[in-house]
Amino acid sequence: MARVNNAPAFDDLLSANREYAQNFSGGEDFDGMAHAGLGLLTCMDSRIEPLGMVGLHLGDAKIIRTPGGRLTEEALNGLILAVSLLGVTRIMVVPHTRCAMADGAEAIRAKALERSGVDLGGLSFGAFTDQLAGARYDVARLRHEPLISSRAVVGGFLYDVVTGLLEPVD
Ligand SMILES: [Zn+2]
Repeated sequence: MARVNNAPAFDDLLSANREYAQNFSGGEDFDGMAHAGLGLLTCMDSRIEPLGMVGLHLGDAKIIRTPGGRLTEEALNGLILAVSLLGVTRIMVVPHTRCAMADGAEAIRAKALERSGVDLGGLSFGAFTDQLAGARYDVARLRHEPLISSRAVVGGFLYDVVTGLLEPVD
């Protein structure tokens, strides 16, 4: 396949980036710490604005997103790193209402086949029909991970994509 970095598909985004960079306030002293001490694990859903929904801004938090906001091995590794190196002292696990992952893997595969004709085989994406139980499990797992619990508090919260509100799940 030919080079795709110059494909028209990216034109609008790169153009927007040049404008973004003109007013960018990062600079040499902009470090990679989580300045609000927050690590936030949530879903990849496009209705979720992880920083905005908790009143934070660029530079404040470490955001990790997975399908359904589940704690994968990579997400756990990221949070351990965030806690031990990047200033995170509090972790929010945030599943959300109307999450496609809560339909279960079988339903997701059927939907993908219907919409795009793609057979996703045995992929499960961490889909889980009881998303609150999943979130509680992930919160408990983080609280029992010594590398996390020695330095950070962990809470689970359900984000409502209709109202924008977070409610505790435990
Ligand atoms: Zn979701």
